[in-house]
Amino acid sequence: MDTTLDTLNYRNLYQSGELRKRIKKAYKLLENCSLCPRRCGVNRRRGETGFCRSGEKLEVSSFHSHFGEEPPISGCRGSGTIFLAHCNLRCIFCQNYPISHLGNGNKISTQQLSQMMLSLQKKRCHNINLVTPTHFMPQILSGFLQAVERDLDIPLVYNCSGYESVETLKLLEGVVDIYMPDLKYGTREAGEKYSSAPDYFEIAKKAIKEMYRQVGDLRLDKKGVAQRGLLVRHLVLPNGQAGTRKVLAFLAEEISSHTYISIMSQYFPAYEAQEFKELNRRITRQEYQQVLDMAEQLGLETGWRQN
Ligand code: SF4
Repeated sequence: MDTTLDTLNYRNLYQSGELRKRIKKAYKLLENCSLCPRRCGVNRRRGETGFCRSGEKLEVSSFHSHFGEEPPISGCRGSGTIFLAHCNLRCIFCQNYPISHLGNGNKISTQQLSQMMLSLQKKRCHNINLVTPTHFMPQILSGFLQAVERDLDIPLVYNCSGYESVETLKLLEGVVDIYMPDLKYGTREAGEKYSSAPDYFEIAKKAIKEMYRQVGDLRLDKKGVAQRGLLVRHLVLPNGQAGTRKVLAFLAEEISSHTYISIMSQYFPAYEAQEFKELNRRITRQEYQQVLDMAEQLGLETGWRQN
């Protein structure tokens, strides 16, 4: 299979005029906001805000080459990371809470976003990595189009919480090369308690199925750098609070045993987590090893494990 053609798919959408049509549809969703499963119904084009607290204008916290992502994403030249301010999930243990909860960032135009993308490409980053993009998807697409007009041609990574609407994801088909969602919880209780989203697991399962339909298993080039596909992240929580067995079983049984999964051990009780006794510590080595064993038992052997 010619991965070069695959990764340039968005150029075809641009040339056919389809990308512009998608942007129009995406902006329409902002008027009665249903960009994400919260479906707040506010008119963000008139400055109203919903659960994510973001309005019409794009807000970016930072952009830079990032070498701390999974090896296929960071490669040797870094991932061109753009951190969007605010979040549609707002977990109580968020390690980036100044950005996601407090909205630390600067208002920028879509043209400025396109310049950021092009400057990251100029630095020879392997990809453009949009962190927490969901609530700004239309504005991102608009900036992206302007960057494509000026010859952006590296893969686009959609680095999201997994709490996504399938309708919104369909507008990204052929635009996003690499989906990198979290799959945070495998139980209703955890979604409700830690992210005010009791339907998190049900919604994220549908979203990940749609992402997989669009891009398939993760494919790497000869140097091991991701070109296209799905990479799922799961943060192990203390005391089994993430419902990890259900998460892994879903990926193995309903997505693919070749799913590239990043099992993360870096949890610490950030932001409001100290108020939840069961989350008020790091995970133990034993807890992490149990999760690795579970993944192996389920036949999930592709991915990234931390030492
Ligand atoms: S993107 Fe924000 S305003 Fe829109 S539905 Fe989601 S949380 Fe609500």
